[in-house]
Amino acid sequence: MGEIIEIREELDSHTFRIGFTVTGEERIVSVDSDKIHLFRSAELTASRPMACPFLRETGTEKCVCSVHTTRPGLCRQYSCYRLLVLDSGSNRIGKVTDASRYFTTNDPNLRRLWNQKIAEAEIADEMTWEIFVEETLVRAGYRVVR
Ligand code: SF4
Repeated sequence: MGEIIEIREELDSHTFRIGFTVTGEERIVSVDSDKIHLFRSAELTASRPMACPFLRETGTEKCVCSVHTTRPGLCRQYSCYRLLVLDSGSNRIGKVTDASRYFTTNDPNLRRLWNQKIAEAEIADEMTWEIFVEETLVRAGYRVVR
């Protein structure tokens, strides 16, 4: 989501004007009152440059949305994602959860492709892996949003 959601303005220390780079849409989000410390103390951008700027890791390696209460509608609909996979009709048929490589789909063909060509790929670098996944899916006729 880091390529889709960007912080355009810091209105105060916990309130931000964000923009969707794809649609140009803007909205205001605020850090949840119980996550202010987490938001300020745990930057993910160094280890996961493609992650949403509001995603934070807790001590248990679980990720949380630090603006959950005011999160954008796109996030409410699809939850946090790292990659969305669309079919030729622009239907969303697969998703990689944000800040992970965990893939979900109910489409058997897409699952087969993932298992055969992507699941076992040994690519350590996160950016390289994302590009590999996108190129593999696009070659097979899917669209990828990241
Ligand atoms: S739900 Fe995920 S993508 Fe949406 S604002 Fe929160 S951390 Fe970012």
